[in-house]
Amino acid sequence: MYCNEKLAEFALSKVEADYFSNVEEQLQKLDENCTNSSFIINVVDPLSIAAETTLFGGTVKFVNSDTVGSKIVYLKHIRDNRQHFLLSSLRFPSSETIDIDHNIYKSQLDYRMQMFEEYPFVNIFYPEEDRGIFYSPPPLTSIMCQPISEEMINNWFDYPYFFPENSRDTSFNGAVILLHSDFIEDNINKQPIYLKQYTETTHLFMGMKRHAFTYNNRFGKSFDLYQEDGLGWRLSASEDIEANVPLMVMCGVIRPFTAALSCLKTYGEQAAFSSFIEIPGTGRCLDRSEFYDFSKYIQHSCNPTCGVRLAESGNEFPDLVIYSLVPINDENSREISIDYFKGFKDYIDKYFSKTNVVKGERKFSLYNDGIDFVLCQCGGGECREVLYIDRSTERKIFSLEKQKKLSHIHPSFKFGGMELAESNKVWKIEFMKFIDN
Ligand SMILES: [Zn+2]
Repeated sequence: MYCNEKLAEFALSKVEADYFSNVEEQLQKLDENCTNSSFIINVVDPLSIAAETTLFGGTVKFVNSDTVGSKIVYLKHIRDNRQHFLLSSLRFPSSETIDIDHNIYKSQLDYRMQMFEEYPFVNIFYPEEDRGIFYSPPPLTSIMCQPISEEMINNWFDYPYFFPENSRDTSFNGAVILLHSDFIEDNINKQPIYLKQYTETTHLFMGMKRHAFTYNNRFGKSFDLYQEDGLGWRLSASEDIEANVPLMVMCGVIRPFTAALSCLKTYGEQAAFSSFIEIPGTGRCLDRSEFYDFSKYIQHSCNPTCGVRLAESGNEFPDLVIYSLVPINDENSREISIDYFKGFKDYIDKYFSKTNVVKGERKFSLYNDGIDFVLCQCGGGECREVLYIDRSTERKIFSLEKQKKLSHIHPSFKFGGMELAESNKVWKIEFMKFIDN
């Protein structure tokens, strides 16, 4: 944790006070400037620190021998998926601006969420004193409150309540995260409930075929979203929760299995592992690169408080539902955590059983061999330490560029998203309880 804070402080020292005003232009120059050392020191390095230390609630570190190359591919992912807000954290706004910006953001978020009544309530908290670093909340145009299909994105114009227009107005350090005022003004005289009924009959609201889940039908717990220096946003429960309670549906775009591997090859592990989740038994995965929900801010833990099950959704692709594995209370700081990397465990055990490296020495042996890997910093007693080992056939070539390693992923590695669901079984949920189907 300490290490992440230091990195963020370093990044802060590298950038101008208004650096975020031209972040978009800078990212457009990534290709032409990828060998320009001053661009790398002053732009690529600080910007990527701002974003990559916050993945998985800051408990996971991606170790790459080609550090510059891996930062560039990750920044391209941010650019191509309109996630620039991740880069505007290296300044602390005044408390008055935070209040003003939050009031607008909150009213727009509330308006949007009232139309999706099943989605649990999320309170957003900001730090009170200037700590140098400040994370902007995610763009409201990226937040989805139920999974969507590729067909909906391709015909986005037919689904205005899923894809409202972005505003160019900025908030929180110049982040572009608000809805276009037309969206609100067009609808301001209509209550969301009225709007919902109206749009349901005209099919504007329907999107993908789903059961009409209502408030408290499946989920009824509320959550807090708060930020920590160098770690980014994290989600916790607002109240004590018993074990085995369904908490929220994971949202994103349902895509073919192959989309996950293609993201890995193009944008690297940071992008692919934090964005794709397998929907077992369907040949599909959930893509959370551009569209997602607040469950994207659930941190990784090797000893997690929550698991994931498949649940009936009303269409052929079941929902990925997060539920409590243990009671969530003061003892675990009401932390919501998931073991994102359990699907890689068998391979890692096999890898180290061949090399005779004891636990505790594993990361050093990978550093020494120059092999890219994912290091866990969850700090739990059962921490596995090494969560993933590069699956490139060229991984032992220390000086090889990241992009080249990524283009040689071993054919036996079938990545279709992180394997979170505990089985292929599809549960039914009624009044916040799992029912055997
Ligand atoms: Zn761990």
